[in-house]
Amino acid sequence: MPSLRIIPEKQVYETIIDAIGKIYCQSTPETITLINNALAIEEDDVAKDMLNAMLKNEELAAKEKLPICQDTGIVVVFADIGNQIKIENGPLYAIVSKAVNDAWRKYYLRDSITFEPIRCFSNHIQNPENSQQSVILHLSELPGNKLELHISLKGGGAENCSLLKMFNPTTSLREIEDFIVDTVVSSGGKPCPPVLVGVGIGGNFERCAILAKRALMVPISPSEKKPEYKKMEERLLTQINQKGKGIQGFGGKTTALKVSILSEPCHIASLPVAINIDCHAHRCISITI
Ligand code: SF4
Repeated sequence: MPSLRIIPEKQVYETIIDAIGKIYCQSTPETITLINNALAIEEDDVAKDMLNAMLKNEELAAKEKLPICQDTGIVVVFADIGNQIKIENGPLYAIVSKAVNDAWRKYYLRDSITFEPIRCFSNHIQNPENSQQSVILHLSELPGNKLELHISLKGGGAENCSLLKMFNPTTSLREIEDFIVDTVVSSGGKPCPPVLVGVGIGGNFERCAILAKRALMVPISPSEKKPEYKKMEERLLTQINQKGKGIQGFGGKTTALKVSILSEPCHIASLPVAINIDCHAHRCISITI
C-alpha cells in the first residue's frame, strides 16, 4: 500500500491566499478571450462600447490590483482530494476558511456575507461574535496523491438568476433546452451579461445544483464529454444569443459567452436540470498541489 503524502497546512493556506490575490482583480483568461471575440463580431455601437469598457476594466483592475467588481462574492471551493494524501492539521474547511478570511483583509475585499439570511431576524450584518466570510466547500475524493482546488469568487447578481427544476423524465429535449434558454434570456441585464452558463443534468435535487456550479468552475476536456452534450452546448449558446438580449441586457449579438454541461445518472422517475449563471466578471482558478 503506498504511503500517504503529507501536505503541510501552510502550503494549502498560502496557495489559497495567492489564488484569491490572482482572481479578485481579473476574470479567467478564457473569459477575456471570449469577450474579445464578442467584440470582434459585434455591430451594435452601444454593445461595442460596453464590451470595450469591460475590457478596459479588466486591464485597469489587473494593473492597479483593484477588484474587477465591487461584489467580490462568496467563495466557492471544489476540493478534489487524492486518496493517498493527508492534509496536516486539518480539517480542510478550517484551513480554507482562515485563508479566505485573511485574504479578505489582505486585499481589502468587500464583506458580502450576511450572518442571518432572513434580515428581519437580526440587526447584525455579520455574526457579532465572529466576523467571518462564509466559504462553500465541496469535497470529493480522487485516486492519487494530489490535492486539486478549484476556487471561485461568485457574485450575488448572477447567482440570483440561477434555477433548478425537477422535470418529468418523459420531458422532451426541446422542452429542456427551452427552459435553459428562457432562464438565461428572461434574467435580462440582472446577471451582468455576457454570462457564462453552467448546466447540471441528472443526479438528484442537490447533486444537480452542484453539477451546474462545477460545470461553471472546473475545466472539462472536450474528450471527457459525450458528443450529444457537446452539440447541446453549441445549440444552447446559439439559441440564447439569437434572442438578442445582449450586453448588460441592452442588445447585441452576445448574451452568453459559453455554455458548459455536466451530467450524471439519475433515478428513472426523475430528470433534474439546474442552471447556474456567472457574469462576465468570472473569477475562477484551478490549482493542483
Ligand atoms: S453580477 Fe457580476 S459583474 Fe454584476 S455586480 Fe454581481 S459580481 Fe459584479
